[in-house]
Amino acid sequence: MEKEVMKMSRVLVIPYPGQGHINPILEFSKYLASKGLKITIITNKTVKKSAQIPLNNSIQIETISDGSEQEKKPESIEEYFKRFKREFSKNLAKFLDEPKSWDFSAKLIVYDSTMPWVLDIAHQRSLLAASFFTQSCSVSALYYYVKKGLLKFPYEDSEVCNLPFLPALEMKDLPSFSEFSDPKQIVMTHLVDQFSNLEEVDWIFFNTFDKLENEILDWMASKWSIKTVGPTFALPQKDTKLSKNHMISLFDPIYNEACTEWLNSKETSSIIYVSFGSIASLKKEQMEELAYGLLMSNWDFLWVVRASEEEKLPPNFTSLALERGCLIVNWCHQTEVLSHKAVACFMSHCGWNSTLEALTLGVPVIGMARWVDQTTNSKFIVDVWRVGVRVKPNENGIVEREEIVKCIEKVTQGDEGKEMRSNAYKLKQLANEAVEKGGTSAGNIEDFISELLCS
Ligand code: UDP
Repeated sequence: MEKEVMKMSRVLVIPYPGQGHINPILEFSKYLASKGLKITIITNKTVKKSAQIPLNNSIQIETISDGSEQEKKPESIEEYFKRFKREFSKNLAKFLDEPKSWDFSAKLIVYDSTMPWVLDIAHQRSLLAASFFTQSCSVSALYYYVKKGLLKFPYEDSEVCNLPFLPALEMKDLPSFSEFSDPKQIVMTHLVDQFSNLEEVDWIFFNTFDKLENEILDWMASKWSIKTVGPTFALPQKDTKLSKNHMISLFDPIYNEACTEWLNSKETSSIIYVSFGSIASLKKEQMEELAYGLLMSNWDFLWVVRASEEEKLPPNFTSLALERGCLIVNWCHQTEVLSHKAVACFMSHCGWNSTLEALTLGVPVIGMARWVDQTTNSKFIVDVWRVGVRVKPNENGIVEREEIVKCIEKVTQGDEGKEMRSNAYKLKQLANEAVEKGGTSAGNIEDFISELLCS
């Protein structure tokens, strides 16, 4: 009987159309599909075009306009957010109200927490609604503290912030907005809004796991009905045709084979993997310092330099690096790379997905955070989980080549490096336990599915 009900239950999934938001929610969807639920992802045309997943009975993708295809580009972040919300909500409502050619047995909408207005659209149509947070629980709590006035924003330059259930945080550890031109604080308002209607949401999912953020999770769970479901990329997909290689990549081409071949040619723990995710960009001067720092370190490295960043590399650097046996690509399958035994450490911007991926695969991190939650994630990497170091910029905000070399040495050598690797190994065990059968995240998903089927 349950199987019959499962076959009938469709979940509509609405990711925010950015790589770091799509990945965790897609992995979660694949896992639900492996448990017998039917999934319809609703997104824009660009995301659908980038999908490399078999669109079969269990997963399909429908597109609606979010305004991004319009020729006139928004002139400010404020204009962008306004247009996105206006167009997406109007078209989502229209889409849901149209009769469907496909089996329409939708019970629930799972939406990115940064799109809280989807909740009303769902409830008005008698659909259940679940908000999916793609940032850490600790960072989410900071946005909640801003909403409640416990943390003033713009931040007051006091020495240390002591906030409930979080470690003491200095200014440099708080989510950073200094690189945005945002006098009206539109970005912070957008992030705080994730908490605007959580009381009415039927489920709240966090892409994290219990032992990683236990105190703040306990506190959150005392306020809202949250479920940890992460790390979603490590959820086992054994009983499904969907695999790790089925993904949505907004970046093309992905140098999978070149990377694997190159990694296979390297010794265990002998290379540095460098990547700053899908959005962060470095100043030209910073790219140069990093490039020369990597060369000076004498380590082999695999550096993901997105096409839009390539022109900032010093002249001749690419050929020098290649001659030295290093590899530079525009995009790779990051979790494949991080799970390779050749990787000794990860120089990262500390986006939440990259952070979770490194922890779950037991790779120590050199944090070079740029903005928003990355600064807080890098604080946790260094002082809470003790699995890495954080680069120190000079007075002009540039991390110099000598500092790059120093950080690589610190993570890869000596007692300190050894301790970081050992902590990373312990977290790897805990992360994998959470998603295995009987683990907390896997159990939470089981509970959620039962609750959904009974509702
Ligand atoms: N990623 C990837 N290949 C790359 C660089 C990044 O597959 O060459 C993936 C990475 O595994 C992660 C996502 O892109 O899942 C980036 O998300 P994150 O939260 O780390 O950073 P963001 O891009 O949102 O700043």
